[in-house]
Amino acid sequence: MGAGLTGRRVLVTGGSSGIGAATARACAAAGARVAVLARRADRLEALADAHDLVPVTADVTDPGQAAEGVARATTALGGLDVLVNAAGVMHPGLITDQDPAEWRAMVDVNVLGLLAVTQAAIPHLEASDGGATIVNVSSMSGRRVPSPTGAVYSATKFAVHAIGEALRQELQPAGVRVTTISPGFVATELFDELDQSDVVARYRRMAATVGISPEDVAAAIVHALSAPDSVTTVEIAMVPTDQDDSAYASSVSGSGSGAGSGTGDAG
Ligand code: NDP
Repeated sequence: MGAGLTGRRVLVTGGSSGIGAATARACAAAGARVAVLARRADRLEALADAHDLVPVTADVTDPGQAAEGVARATTALGGLDVLVNAAGVMHPGLITDQDPAEWRAMVDVNVLGLLAVTQAAIPHLEASDGGATIVNVSSMSGRRVPSPTGAVYSATKFAVHAIGEALRQELQPAGVRVTTISPGFVATELFDELDQSDVVARYRRMAATVGISPEDVAAAIVHALSAPDSVTTVEIAMVPTDQDDSAYASSVSGSGSGAGSGTGDAG
């Protein structure tokens, strides 16, 4: 990879693993100075040591920590040109029987956390002298509802699209670009902490078998960031070639956690 982002100051949330970590590495390899924000300090420090990044430990669901995290990153980098909102969680389940705590967890991280970090970052992005960009990591689940167990995760990702489109209009006069990226299955740890239900087992299997790599998503983000300032990439949608969309027509047969079949469902 060349030095297409030389000197650009980049903050990546969700930078401790998966898509966020890969994006941080790819931006650094392209010449950017990068801060990574997440909760797991040990992960952040290992990544920062290996790639000369700035580790910022913060929980985006706490508005105070989100604002303080953006402030620490911006101070360490000497300003901010790019924000990549990759922090996210997923809990599949049917509305009939899902624990509302899981709804709140998804809304808190995927929507309110993204908003808190973004609000804190906007003044710094507006002060950037070139290439100011926000990249929001949504999902193919933010473009269509793939299965009955995806209601609230999809709702949060539809929200990411809506917020991104409104932000693009709001920040256009300031020259800040906004990009929404929607991956299908990606081989990451997103499903690791979940329960052992059939649907989760299928997600894990799909991510591990057909899932594209986090580096593939990171490369698409770097591509959007590397476009001339006069070009805004509004949306990128990308799926594994082997992700079978015909399987999205799943049913609610049997118990909730077993709903759906085939190779579709998440992403
Ligand atoms: P990972 O689980 O590997 O990464 C999720 C990241 O979010 C971690 O770095 C985690 O760090 C961070 N995070 C979670 N909660 C918080 C919080 N409260 N505060 C700060 N950071 C938090 O999964 P992915 O890389 O797959 O997920 C990245 C994004 O990609 C998510 O938004 C996800 O919805 C989206 N996505 C993923 C797909 C997939 O198939 N994997 C498909 C489509 C979209 P820590 O735990 O250290 O806080």
